[in-house]
Amino acid sequence: MSLLEIKNATLKFGGVVAVNDLSFSVEEGEVYAIVGPNGAGKSTVFNLISRFYDPYSGSISFDGANLLDRHADAVADLGIARTFQNIELFDHATVLQNLLVGRHRHRKSNMIQELLFTPRVRREEHVHREAVERVIDFLDLQPYRNKMIAGLPYGVRKVVELGRALASDPRLLLLDEPASGLSVEETQDMRWWIDDIRKQMGITVLMVEHDMGLVSGVSDRVLALADGAKLAEGTPAEVQADPAVIAAYLGT
Ligand code: ADP
Ligand code: MG
Repeated sequence: MSLLEIKNATLKFGGVVAVNDLSFSVEEGEVYAIVGPNGAGKSTVFNLISRFYDPYSGSISFDGANLLDRHADAVADLGIARTFQNIELFDHATVLQNLLVGRHRHRKSNMIQELLFTPRVRREEHVHREAVERVIDFLDLQPYRNKMIAGLPYGVRKVVELGRALASDPRLLLLDEPASGLSVEETQDMRWWIDDIRKQMGITVLMVEHDMGLVSGVSDRVLALADGAKLAEGTPAEVQADPAVIAAYLGT
């Protein structure tokens, strides 16, 4: 059984077919990349998995369970975490505070208990802090721990977003263009992190990315999308050599 299975998914926005009868599955432990020109439907696929949108038709399952039965808030509880193409952090909070938000799904105490800071909340807080400190160490974020997001360079904010998703201890990590806007060095760091996330942490990664160097470097399999439909699927080398993919990229 695949960890994530999308079957014949279709989603339309008015007259635009953003995702068109699309099927693919992601196996546990792999890095799977989705590539394609702007407007191909890549982010929409993520939004379908995150349950921000209901597909017009088709099915999506995660670990054998029907994801379409779940509300968007429940998706994180299943162990699916994501980053956004346009970074979505709390700008007027610190790096540490943003990472603690990532722990939300593991919080057992309710708001009243948190306001009263009961012993249970104190114990829980300790566990969350430790989890977040591990993420800070892993992503080399120590120098920024208590800095406000608003004042940080773009590249650092991008890493914090990855950190917030990691802090939730996901089984499946969705990365929407993790290297966009990053320098060559920052992209190289991203590549090592994605490798370690899979190899050391055992987290399955589904990513959308334009940088073919990064895609080839970390992915086991690649799906090329065009106009919401599958153009090609295979190893990075197979997909890059596919005539339909070459034609789509050259606009012929
Ligand atoms: P990609 O991420 O591959 O660049 P998107 O998934 O963002 O592409 O968009 C796919 C298509 O769906 C585009 O034509 C886009 O304009 C359209 N689209 C995406 N989101 C919406 C929305 N919320 N409302 C209307 N159209 C949308
Ligand atoms: Mg997109």
